[in-house]
Amino acid sequence: MLPHQPHFIGQPEGVQVFWGYALFVDVPGNFVKKPMSACTGREIMTEILGHLRLEKNAARILDTCTCIPRMMPFITSQFLPRSVGDHPQIVPEGSKNLAFVGQYCELPEVVVFTVDYSTRSAQTAVYSLLGLKRKAPSVIKGQFNPRVLQEAFLALHEIGV
Ligand SMILES: Cc1cc2nc3c(=O)[nH]c(=O)nc-3n(C[C@H](O)[C@H](O)[C@H](O)COP(=O)(O)OP(=O)(O)OC[C@H]3O[C@@H](n4cnc5c(N)ncnc54)[C@H](O)[C@@H]3O)c2cc1C
Repeated sequence: MLPHQPHFIGQPEGVQVFWGYALFVDVPGNFVKKPMSACTGREIMTEILGHLRLEKNAARILDTCTCIPRMMPFITSQFLPRSVGDHPQIVPEGSKNLAFVGQYCELPEVVVFTVDYSTRSAQTAVYSLLGLKRKAPSVIKGQFNPRVLQEAFLALHEIGV
């Protein structure tokens, strides 16, 4: 699925942008027989087109698109199992002028790898250090909403999709 276009301010008409990321960079591809870590952008695009069963149109697409590879070696570290205490509190006990913000501080109930996580941690840090009587907005608990559960069930079972 492509994000809503244009994605960037000033993006030219007729140009579409999307990004994706993949795991197992050291395993040879199904269509390009080398590991993704050794592939050019064109080869990565060739592999994607193979998986999308677009081989017939591959030559035309490859000639008109630009694929820029990027390695993100630590990206999945955010999803490693962790226990309370592995990550620092946003404002450590006794701290008056130091706070931790971003993806690696302790913030209950919010999902990592999101802008939301960083934003809430920054709000929490600022409100706390400045002594403001405010809190980051409460987290929507969609997992307890019957409508969300029903929609998830239908989508997972491909009913009415
Ligand atoms: C491919 C991809 C897709 C994503 N998709 C989504 C999505 O759909 N929805 C979503 O909510 N989140 C998404 N995320 C996650 C989200 O982008 C990040 O969680 C968020 O941007 C983190 O914000 P941050 O301000 O904490 O850190 P960053 O945005 O990483 O900002 C940190 C800044 O610090 C700078 N910096 C680093 N070291 C130094 C230094 N020593 N001195 C000075 N500056 C330094 C960096 O250059 C950077 O500008 C995605 C991330 C990626 C990589």
